[in-house]
Amino acid sequence: MNFKQYILENNLGIINDEYSFKDITTIGCGGKIKCLYIPKSIEALAKAFKYIKEKNLSYFIIANGSNILASDSLHNEIVIWVKKLDYTYVFLENSIKISAFYPTIKLAYDLANLEYGDLSFLGGIPGTLGGAIYNNSGAYNDNIGNHILEVEYIDTAGQIKTISNSLCAFGYRRSIFHFIEGIIISATLKIEKIKTKELLEKRRKQRLESQPLDNKSMGSIFKNNPLIPSWKIVDALGLRGFRIGDASVSAKHSNFIINLGKAKASDILAIINLIETRSRLEFGINLIKEITII
Ligand SMILES: Cc1cc2nc3c(=O)[nH]c(=O)nc-3n(C[C@H](O)[C@H](O)[C@H](O)COP(=O)(O)OP(=O)(O)OC[C@H]3O[C@@H](n4cnc5c(N)ncnc54)[C@H](O)[C@@H]3O)c2cc1C
Repeated sequence: MNFKQYILENNLGIINDEYSFKDITTIGCGGKIKCLYIPKSIEALAKAFKYIKEKNLSYFIIANGSNILASDSLHNEIVIWVKKLDYTYVFLENSIKISAFYPTIKLAYDLANLEYGDLSFLGGIPGTLGGAIYNNSGAYNDNIGNHILEVEYIDTAGQIKTISNSLCAFGYRRSIFHFIEGIIISATLKIEKIKTKELLEKRRKQRLESQPLDNKSMGSIFKNNPLIPSWKIVDALGLRGFRIGDASVSAKHSNFIINLGKAKASDILAIINLIETRSRLEFGINLIKEITII
C-alpha cells in the first residue's frame, strides 16, 4: 500500500497533486508538488507521520510558507501542509495553551484585544505559531522562545511528546526542531494581564513604512550578525533594487527579496548567491540565510 492509499483508506485527510509551492508560500514561487497531504486532525496527522517514518518516506512540513523558498523543479517528497488544521486556545492558570496552527498575527491581536500578552512583537510576523517556534521568530528584541513554557509535538513514532522551554534550545532563529524530527502541535505560553493594543498598532505602522508588505516576500533573507545588519551589507554592495527577471531586492528594505509577478525560485537563488559571494569577497563577511530552502 502506498502513502496515498493509506491516507484514503484510513480517512486521514486529503491528498492533492494539483498544488505547486507557488500556491502555498508567501513568496509565490516553487515547483509542482507530487503529493500534498492535508491532514484532517491531529490524530490523523500522528498516524500519517508514523507511517511516513516507518516506511522511511521523505517529507517536508509546511504551515503558512512565510519563510520557505522551494526550487522550481518537481517535488517528489510528501509535503505535509498543516495550515488547514483547526486552531484554538485554552486559558490555564497564568498561562495559555495554543494550537500550533494559530495564525501569529491573529494571535497577537486576539490576545491584545483580551488585554493579555505581551505578544505584540508577533503582530507583524506572518505565519503560524508552529512556524514561529521552529524558527524562534522574533522582532523588537523579543522572540517566541521568551514566552514559551512548553511545546507539544508528534514524534517519529506518532506519539505526542511535551518538552519544556529549557530543552527547546531557543537561539537566534533556531530551536531544537532544527535538529530533531517532529511536528509541533501546540505550545503553552506564560501570560499576564497587560494592555498592548497601542504598541501593536504602532509596530504594525512601523512595519508598513519600512517593509515591502504589498509585495510577495519571505521576510528577511539573511540573519543579522552582531556587528552590522544585513541590509547595510546589501546596500554597501549597491544591490538595493537589483533585479533578475521578476525577482528583485526590495527598494524599501534591502534584506527582503520580492516577487514582482512571475519570479522563479532560480532567479531569487541567483540574487541570494550573488549577495553571499560578493559579501564574502568584498567584505570578508559570510552571510547566513534565515529562510529555509528546499
Ligand atoms: C513580510 C514578512 C515579514 C517577516 N518578518 C519576520 C520577522 O520580523 N521576524 C521573524 O522571525 N520572521 C519574519 N518573517 C518570516 C516568517 O514570518 C517566520 O519565520 C514565521 O514564523 C514562519 O511561520 P510559518 O507558519 O509561515 O512557517 P513555514 O514558513 O511554513 O515553515 C518554516 C519552517 O518551520 C517548519 N514548520 C512549520 N510549522 C511546523 C510545525 N507545526 N512543526 C514542525 N515544523 C514546522 C517548516 O518545516 C519550515 O522549516 C517574515 C516573513 C514575511 C513574509
